[in-house]
Amino acid sequence: MNVLVTGGAGYIGSHAVKQLVGAGHRVVVVDNLFRGHRGAVIPEAAFHELALRDTEPLARVLAEHEIDCVMHFAALAYVGESVDKPLEYYENNVSGAVSLLRAMRLAGVRRFVFSSTCATYGQPERSPVVETMRQEPLSPYGWSKWCVERILKDTASADPQFAFVALRYFNVAGAAADGSLGEDHRPETHLIPLILQAALGTRENITVFGTDYPTADGTCIRDYIHVEDLCAAHILAMEALEPGDTRFYNLGIGRGYSVREVLDSARRVTGREIAVEYGPRRPGDPAELYADSTRIQRDLGWQPRYTEIDSIVATAWNWLKHHPDGYAG
Ligand code: UDP
Repeated sequence: MNVLVTGGAGYIGSHAVKQLVGAGHRVVVVDNLFRGHRGAVIPEAAFHELALRDTEPLARVLAEHEIDCVMHFAALAYVGESVDKPLEYYENNVSGAVSLLRAMRLAGVRRFVFSSTCATYGQPERSPVVETMRQEPLSPYGWSKWCVERILKDTASADPQFAFVALRYFNVAGAAADGSLGEDHRPETHLIPLILQAALGTRENITVFGTDYPTADGTCIRDYIHVEDLCAAHILAMEALEPGDTRFYNLGIGRGYSVREVLDSARRVTGREIAVEYGPRRPGDPAELYADSTRIQRDLGWQPRYTEIDSIVATAWNWLKHHPDGYAG
């Protein structure tokens, strides 16, 4: 298939591009390089530096490359930042998606794979989280993704040929198994890269946000899914889409690890000391969040290959050791 990947220079998008090319698809990346890295886009993919709001240029790219499907990763994705800058989040994530969908309509492209999030559930009533649970986001980031899910449903209602799948990610982590791609967020806010930076010595320590949660060891529990397993699900979902499909899938390994367990894993994998400080809770963090991904397993036969935290952390460590400055190095 000919696939246009927005945000293909970002963490998840770049891994998706590599896997799509590996699976024999032709890939065109659109990225404005605001937070993406040109060096993360493999040379086999065509590249256009373009903003999502540029509807007509986008439509031309879609038409020129005879695109069959759009995978939409480009978005602002910091929960905390979204609380301070809600308009930027709605502008980029919601208006950006609307512009992209309009470009698709102009070019007659009707297949869409959307990067959604478990943040659309907010504080779910329990874990494991199933797709039918109530969605009530806790941040403008979560609401912006929720809005795009809503827009996709309405787009599909208006056009019976339109098909989409919204993939609700839990905590994406790890790096390409061959060490060629990894995670390089600026600023970095995610637990695993922060811990590994502390192990490497490029960061002094890591602060654990809260030790008084109602969990076995008092720290938050999350479902860490390897980025390559996540991308494999995108390709399966894209290939399965039939006109009129409207699908929603959770993507996690179905098992949670506490912050302390992730720290222990990083100590085992790196063999290094990791300096830890204990701080207060981070506002908005649910105590426990892990996925029930039965629906995608049943419908598409998806199975995560990385089911142990050490194997996920090991790929992230391999990348960081060889790229201590990320893509700048
Ligand atoms: N966390 C932490 N210290 C940090 C960053 C994260 O204790 O410096 C915790 C955070 O409270 C959450 C988990 O690690 O329970 C995963 O956080 P992350 O920001 O990686 O992902 P999120 O769950 O917010 O999507």
